[in-house]
Amino acid sequence: MNFDLRSLRQQFPFFSAHPDWIYLDNAATLHKPQAVLDAMNTFYSQHNSNVHRSAHGLSQQATAAFEAARNTVAQFLNARFSHEIIWTSGTTAGFNQLVFGLMGPVLQSGDRVLISSMEHHANIVPWHIHALPFGVQLDVVPLTADHRFDLAAYSELLKLKPKVVSISHVSNALGYIQPIADIVRLAKEAGAIVVLDGAQGIVWEKIDVQALDVDFYLFSGHKLYGPTGIGVLYGKTQYLELLRPLLGGGEMIKTVSFSSSSWNDLPYRLEAGTPNMAGAIGLAAAILWLQQQDLTAFQQHKSALVQRFYAGCQQISALELLSGPTTNAGIVALNLKNEHPADLATLLDQQNIAVRAGTHCTMPLFQALNVKGSVRFSFACYNSFDEIDRTLTALATAVELLA
Ligand code: PLP
Repeated sequence: MNFDLRSLRQQFPFFSAHPDWIYLDNAATLHKPQAVLDAMNTFYSQHNSNVHRSAHGLSQQATAAFEAARNTVAQFLNARFSHEIIWTSGTTAGFNQLVFGLMGPVLQSGDRVLISSMEHHANIVPWHIHALPFGVQLDVVPLTADHRFDLAAYSELLKLKPKVVSISHVSNALGYIQPIADIVRLAKEAGAIVVLDGAQGIVWEKIDVQALDVDFYLFSGHKLYGPTGIGVLYGKTQYLELLRPLLGGGEMIKTVSFSSSSWNDLPYRLEAGTPNMAGAIGLAAAILWLQQQDLTAFQQHKSALVQRFYAGCQQISALELLSGPTTNAGIVALNLKNEHPADLATLLDQQNIAVRAGTHCTMPLFQALNVKGSVRFSFACYNSFDEIDRTLTALATAVELLA
């Protein structure tokens, strides 16, 4: 490991507040380094003014800090222009804007959209609300026998000529890293607009949206060591220009009369109302913090944690493992035979181990797997091998109690 875990953890005040907890619910939300908390505190205590509206200098300072945050995200993703970064309140909000916005200009009745079996509800339900009632059809890439993204079936489904392909970068339920380079390339060859749900993938690896040639990429700040309530919808200019705004109001207009309105330029056209200024600044601080870390070392560490945990679980015969350790971004899903996942999670909670039980906002995936749900252990750079070993001991105790 090329980083000092102890000093890394010291940068996260949460752990001093909860020294007796093992936090393995990182796919739900990550903890925040002090640098993020400081940046938000500084904004509120020293620069708080509404952006883009007022002539006074304080507002101009706030606007400069807010737009600098957008530039930080643009550079982080290697977007061509900073106006390609649309602030949202998170991945879910981004998908709702995206799907609503595509309807009409891009998608019409009879068109098809292709998603995968592993999608989060955020990449399913917005299609149900905004697209299916208007005649769009949703096709689904099945899983392989070992619960992976089925590239062969994907290639076949692309022959149906979907207008849009929308796939998760990393599965939040199973932890698998999807073959995004192949997914994007094949979608482009088939003439589709391609969307990646980066909610879990953004923290795993560095994304270069231009090199990848992806048309839209969405993520949430809180899963990248940043604050809640802020997220990003990246889109290529040519496609963002097409999107109809989901929200109307201040900021997103050029002119308004009682009978009609004309819309602002990007990115403001898709950012109605007072934005989450402190959130944007906190997210930029998270990115700047991350850029000072060794991302490859983080990846290696998370992979090692998964392998150690997975190997330990294999020693407990009553456990059924739903996801394996290869091409895994740090999530292990399992069940105790014949027991409800919530029971196992409750016993772990009683031992101060935070995990998530249920269907993890991927109900259709669990229908495809034909299991009720799972207990999800999700790891982050700040977790230790000692925590893995203590979790395995706690798991063995819980299994004994339940079995
Ligand atoms: N997509 C994936 C893969 C996720 O894991 C999540 C959250 O868990 C989301 C979308 C939704 O993110 P948010 O709740 O931050 O909007």
